[in-house]
Amino acid sequence: MDSRDKSGNTIDFRHAKIVSTYNDLNLQIKDNDDVISRLTRRLQTSLDITEIVSMFATELKEIVDFSQFCYEHTDGESTIVGGVSGAHSCHFNLAMDTMRLGSMKLSRRQRFAEEELSIIEYLASTLVFPVRNAILYQQALSSAMKDELTGCGNRRALQSSLHRETERALRHKYPLSIMMIDIDHFKAINDSYGHPCGDTVIKDLATLLKKQCRQSDLCFRYGGEEFLIILDESDCKQSLAAAERIRKHIMHSEVLHEAARIKYTVSIGVACFNAGDTLDQLMTRADQALYRSKNSGRNCSSLARAQTEAPVKTQVKMGI
Ligand code: GH3
Ligand code: MG
Ligand code: MG
Repeated sequence: MDSRDKSGNTIDFRHAKIVSTYNDLNLQIKDNDDVISRLTRRLQTSLDITEIVSMFATELKEIVDFSQFCYEHTDGESTIVGGVSGAHSCHFNLAMDTMRLGSMKLSRRQRFAEEELSIIEYLASTLVFPVRNAILYQQALSSAMKDELTGCGNRRALQSSLHRETERALRHKYPLSIMMIDIDHFKAINDSYGHPCGDTVIKDLATLLKKQCRQSDLCFRYGGEEFLIILDESDCKQSLAAAERIRKHIMHSEVLHEAARIKYTVSIGVACFNAGDTLDQLMTRADQALYRSKNSGRNCSSLARAQTEAPVKTQVKMGI
């Protein structure tokens, strides 16, 4: 058993024996049986890790005094409960089998007694399953929003981000634009080099777009060889300039697949969000601008008109 940890070792609760060797503590824990069951019940009410950890810290404080509780999550974020840290601290890493769950550190001015350390360890066992479930839930949520091939957000993620970002742009009164990017004659790449090569080109484009975007821009794969970027705080002029920069960069790059060096181009449609636009209207205008780029010979960018254009009935398909 590798249980309590003062030196930074990991507590694996799958194997930990949650029985104290201290008589006083056994008595205290018996008295606090209701605390354990209340804590267990409370922690099961949420799948939000921050909330779970905060509830745990609040309950723990009733039993063991500390000035600061800090939980470091596996993604490097921290949840802090309480005020300033003290000179004395105890530190516990939490894990279940090979899954890391994070670590917690308690600090205060006075030393922690052995009994207190045992109590913390004992109570920490109630944290393990709720934290593990919350981590798994977050992982499931984020993989449901992610495109597997490129790691970009998928169409579902696009819908919710677009909703959130347009609301924010309206609230803070800053411009927002979207950029629709479609690989030119992609079918010909698949036909000439094979589908796996087509996949490599799609991945290459995703990497390139992420590199070319600002940190605040959001990049999504919303169709086979179609990407969409949300550019916040960017007006039409700035977004069209960004589109042209990206397009030229792609035009001058090449993708290596087995022995082949493949060059490809993209067409881009840019639309700026107007107050009063529905998300559908915004997307339609970007799509119409993209369509104009395709019709203008491809490998170019077009800016959407301020209003949605009348539907186009016939589509001219150009050869490579
Ligand atoms: P255009 O210049 O008009 O955009 O022509 P295009 O050939 O790029 O467009 P079209 O819509 O005719 O073809 C898109 C192709 O993309 C058809 C489809 O088989 C292929 N595709 C869609 N998803 C994937 C994917 O995940 N991987 C690969 N390799 N191909 C894909
Ligand atoms: Mg397409
Ligand atoms: Mg295409």
